[in-house]
Amino acid sequence: MESKNEHWKDKYLDLIDQVERDKARGEQMDATLRRAISRLSIACRGLDNRLDDELTRFSTAVRQKVDVDSLGVRIDALSEAIVGLDHAPDAPTYQPATSPPAIAPAPSATEARVLDNAGPALKKLLDNVSLGPELVPQLVALREQVLPTMSESHWGPVIETFLSLLSTQQAQLAGDKANLERMLEQVDGRLDELAVYLMGDKDARKDERDSRDALTTQLHGEVDRLGTHARQATELTLLQQHVSTRISAINAHVQDFRSREEDRIVRLEERGELMRSRIDELERETTNLRQSLRYEQVLAATDNLTRIPNRMAYQEAIEQEFARWSRYPRPVALAVWDIDHFKSINDQYGHKAGDKVLFAVAQVLRKHLRNTDFVARVGGEEFVAILPGASTDQALRVVEELRRKVSHLGFHFQGKPLQVTMSCGIAQIQASDTPDSLFERADRGMYRAKENGRNQSVVESA
Ligand code: GH3
Ligand code: MG
Ligand code: MG
Repeated sequence: MESKNEHWKDKYLDLIDQVERDKARGEQMDATLRRAISRLSIACRGLDNRLDDELTRFSTAVRQKVDVDSLGVRIDALSEAIVGLDHAPDAPTYQPATSPPAIAPAPSATEARVLDNAGPALKKLLDNVSLGPELVPQLVALREQVLPTMSESHWGPVIETFLSLLSTQQAQLAGDKANLERMLEQVDGRLDELAVYLMGDKDARKDERDSRDALTTQLHGEVDRLGTHARQATELTLLQQHVSTRISAINAHVQDFRSREEDRIVRLEERGELMRSRIDELERETTNLRQSLRYEQVLAATDNLTRIPNRMAYQEAIEQEFARWSRYPRPVALAVWDIDHFKSINDQYGHKAGDKVLFAVAQVLRKHLRNTDFVARVGGEEFVAILPGASTDQALRVVEELRRKVSHLGFHFQGKPLQVTMSCGIAQIQASDTPDSLFERADRGMYRAKENGRNQSVVESA
């Protein structure tokens, strides 16, 4: 019983660790979303007084970490202010979010100035944000609305839909958290029962001791009385009678003790049986809890389309790599890829063809990198790999080989062959680097590769 208790106690503690890690990740995601929302709010200021007021209230609510319901109220007010822009005397008219026109009326001067900044930021955000699997189809649909010809004045409905997706995501996270808390409460309840049982077990052992002590005292008493009678007996028949009476009394005490013991054993067996089934239930619940936590964790760290790790998983991996690097400095390279002219693949052959390309490219990267390397999809058609132990020269050789493999994938869409190429930037961790500065350097290399004519890899030195 003792080792089984230790076993489930360990499991319970592991489980709490896991829940705490999961909670930390949820909080990190929450902080990122709130930061993104605040930046978006700043980018959208200056269009309309009422919208500005709502943006201020909304940003304050986000900063103060109000709950999902209150945030929902603010989102509704913000949506109304955005819709209200339609009716402002000099504002352009918005089309419904589901069918933006290819060409929109020219925005006002102020609007154009503000949206000039907001547009690229919003587009980048939309391309890079990861939402839960149920929201991905809506996110992809939203990305599709952002056409190259779309006037920036049509961002209003896009922002509105995006905010509502974020709000749904938050509500879902809150729901997941509540579910986990409920499951933990159940486990906690079972543990309480187990603790009560263990206390009962202690009481039962005490009863047993008391019962034995009582029997010993009774037997001693009878033997003492027998001795006294024997010493005082003057007649053999009287002595025989006394002996017989005392033996009957001893017999009765022993019978009494035996029946008490039998009752106690039956009760103990019943309680033992009950507890065994409770422990089985507890084990089943903890297994379910662990499986669902593991599933949620894997799901949260996996890109839905390509099934390789996503941006969030990359952030975690690169932070771990930096922590490792500070303990054991050695060459670590980072490669950043961007598929060339990907938009034209979507435009020419459709979004589904684009998705197939993304999937195939991801599989090439995953399959041909080493197990110790880490590859992720960090944006629309952007991939990244951490190559521990690789100098920039070694990384360049690996990356060039992958670039060649991708360019030979041999896609055919609508009966026509299509060559897919990628541009890549490579950088190496330096002592003064942070994950962001390393990424920016590799990204700069990638942009240089684009400028140099695409379909090539460039090492960006510090
Ligand atoms: P460049 O060579 O300069 O990189 O040009 P590009 O066309 O690849 O670059 P741009 O950033 O203009 O286009 C990226 C496109 O990727 C735009 C966006 O619609 C598309 N995209 C983003 N996410 C997805 C996705 O999940 N599926 C598909 N099919 N397309 C996506
Ligand atoms: Mg790109
Ligand atoms: Mg591209």
